[in-house]
Amino acid sequence: MAAATLSLSSPSPRSSSWISSILDQHRPALGPYEELYRHLHQHGELSTQEKETAALMASQLRKISDSFDIRTGIGGHGLVAILDNGPGTTILLRADMDALPVQEKTGLEYASTKRMRDDTDGLEKPVMHACGHDFHMTALLAAAETLVSARTAWSGRIVFLFQPAEERGSGAQAMVDDGLYDAGRHACPIPDVVLGQHVLPLRAGTTATRAGSLMSAADSFRITIYGRGGHGSMPHRTIDPVVVASHVVVRLQTIVAREVPPSETAVVTVGALQAGSAENVIPDEAVLKINIRTVSALWRDRVLAAVQRIVRAECLAANCPRDPSFEPTSSFPLTVNHAAVAHSINDAFTAYFGDAHDPNVPNALGSEDFGILATAVDRPYCFWFFGGVDQVAFDEAVARGDEATIPVNHSPFFAPVLQPTLTTGINALVVAALTYLGTGGR
Ligand SMILES: [Zn+2]
Ligand SMILES: [Zn+2]
Repeated sequence: MAAATLSLSSPSPRSSSWISSILDQHRPALGPYEELYRHLHQHGELSTQEKETAALMASQLRKISDSFDIRTGIGGHGLVAILDNGPGTTILLRADMDALPVQEKTGLEYASTKRMRDDTDGLEKPVMHACGHDFHMTALLAAAETLVSARTAWSGRIVFLFQPAEERGSGAQAMVDDGLYDAGRHACPIPDVVLGQHVLPLRAGTTATRAGSLMSAADSFRITIYGRGGHGSMPHRTIDPVVVASHVVVRLQTIVAREVPPSETAVVTVGALQAGSAENVIPDEAVLKINIRTVSALWRDRVLAAVQRIVRAECLAANCPRDPSFEPTSSFPLTVNHAAVAHSINDAFTAYFGDAHDPNVPNALGSEDFGILATAVDRPYCFWFFGGVDQVAFDEAVARGDEATIPVNHSPFFAPVLQPTLTTGINALVVAALTYLGTGGR
């Protein structure tokens, strides 16, 4: 990050009233964007299959302005729209586009009934924007319209980036690998700073971020334990992978309980344990699907090593005929906000949102691949959250002490209220952009 720190001087503080007046004058009427949100919500697409969504983003951008330089089909369905507005800093604002294979149960009048074939396994599945990426896209488009309208008030360059396949942790890397920033390929200008946001089950109207570690790394593996199958009546002639896997599951719990310091945060979850199909047959292998969350590079390495050590040791203890296999299924990096950028964003958000901004939100154990868009070109980044829970419902839940019952991202009941969630997402993007690009209000 050293080079990045040098290349990006801290922005001069803009006056919050100046930013407010820009938003008041230039933020478009939101009726059409609320309509767009409901459309996106009902037409989600699974990761890597965001074809219609990406086409809609491009057509909406063209509708906003003909001065966008739009490049599509990056790393799958990724796209960027570049707005060159004179000398100055280049910033990148990112939204993700994919939905999840979840059957919506919110009961909203605009609930999704969409189904589509999942290209990874050929099965038809329900599709729901259960992670709120529909808010991210809608807010980014409305922020783009605001910033286009206000272009005499700022100078510099903005890359509006729409990313596919966030849920698989593969979309940001796919865009980079496809030459997002390569001169001979998509030649997207390398940003001085990368900014992005996520809607979470916080009180609607609020924003939150922090300097340093914000979201965990997430590493998932498919582990196969090889035994020797046989008749249920003759266990002595077999090596039972069900017993080995059971020991592994229990022993893995000791990593967090007995190896990771209580002051550190880590989660080891065995999300699936699959072996055998009949009462009287000892199967010849067992499969474990494991998800590991960590919030520091040191403990990420140590926890991953501990999982491998324990699985190998249990297989050795059981005299398994083969070493277990470890197949990585997804990997999300740590999200660590650059200190100086987070400081600037915190100052700007506190000035604009007041007490509704939390500048030191606790580390979230969700994960993101957003940071790859910055680290791939050694640039600093800041990611923040905005709330989506109805304010009255949120306050009542807090008063009852049962916030845990509020549906979270990925739940079939996840239902952020349309407003003030959408307006907050738009305002946050515009405030962040003008913090780096504004030329007035000093
Ligand atoms: Zn998600
Ligand atoms: Zn998400």
